[in-house]
Amino acid sequence: MSKLPHIGTSIFTVMSKMAIDYKAINLAQGFPNFPVDERLTGIVSGIATENVHQYAPMSGHTALLDKIKQLTFSSYSRNVNPTTEILVTAGATEGIFATIQALVYRNEEVIILDPSYDCYETPIILCNAKPIRIALKDDFTPDWETIGNAINHTTKLIIINNPHNPSGRVWTEYDYNQLEKLLDSYPNLLVLSDEVYEHITFEQKHLSIHHRPKLWDRSISVSSFGKTFHITGWKIGYLIAPEPLMNEIKKVHQFLVFSVNSIAQTALAEYLNVVDVPALSSFYQQKRDYFRALIKDTKFTLLPCEGTYFQTVSYNNISTENDIDFTKRLVTDYGVATIPISAFNFNGKDTNCIRFCFAKDDATLESAAEKLMKL
Ligand code: PMP
Ligand code: GLN
Repeated sequence: MSKLPHIGTSIFTVMSKMAIDYKAINLAQGFPNFPVDERLTGIVSGIATENVHQYAPMSGHTALLDKIKQLTFSSYSRNVNPTTEILVTAGATEGIFATIQALVYRNEEVIILDPSYDCYETPIILCNAKPIRIALKDDFTPDWETIGNAINHTTKLIIINNPHNPSGRVWTEYDYNQLEKLLDSYPNLLVLSDEVYEHITFEQKHLSIHHRPKLWDRSISVSSFGKTFHITGWKIGYLIAPEPLMNEIKKVHQFLVFSVNSIAQTALAEYLNVVDVPALSSFYQQKRDYFRALIKDTKFTLLPCEGTYFQTVSYNNISTENDIDFTKRLVTDYGVATIPISAFNFNGKDTNCIRFCFAKDDATLESAAEKLMKL
């Protein structure tokens, strides 16, 4: 008997395969198609002949831990201890898995806000704990009344994701105030803050959990170099957590991967000396604006995009099909692969919305828009 009978192949794998099979433009799975910064590829080739090929320390290469400490300070004015409060992980995915395995006990509840990214639920189930999926409001902002009603003394963790995949919405000070109130009422409640798109926000600068000292003792934040440096295939990210929680997470990490790819760690430590991380937001803001302009005359209704490299749209004016059938037809008949939002919802709740990834070169976005105009 399967431990995970309801888990199939992820929608990202399914749509990327369809894109290949039908030679469609892939605006589905979230990855950039433009070249990686030459300074980074140069560093990688330069270090290949050096002594960088053996195990890195369990919690991370010392130089990289120091750079992450500096980045956290320059981004959020927060001082973290690189030895005790940072863990380099095999992507955000491993960080999320290790956190949940380490901190959540049998029968405890974990709040997930839908639409939600697909890697949250499985580690909860594997702990014999209960995922409690709460819908965001129709505009994809948190519904604090419903969240408050769902929390009780067996709730161990609330997972938040800001900027939000798939909607591109971001949190406001109001949302953090509400979260702080909840934590005041429930002293055992912890927060897992998935901020993998932290450096991709537009009109409003990213409000991180790191801006809220009151939350530091009770939160674990998750970051991904894959998103920040256009290197999703490297699978490298990190967690920041207070020492007592981090000690528990490290116990799982130690036996899940022991340590993370040594070459990637050495290269990133060096690259962080030269790269301008805050410039990423304006880079993607131009892409967002360009893509929105390209598809503004289609029949899609564009929803707000405040961060991430995803644009969500409603196709209510085009079809009454469910979003899975609609996205399949977009590939087979129009040559563009996208992601149906129902894949992020409990029981596949469908709101006739789909997600485009605009982390693509201009030519790709232009050809996709040309095809979408035909709808
Ligand atoms: N969280 C969110 C919201 C994501 O979109 C992704 C996908 N990249 C991840 C976590 C996983 O990131 P990584 O590839 O670094 O494991
Ligand atoms: N995070 C990526 C997305 O949302 C997918 C990564 C994956 O395929 N696991 O598209």
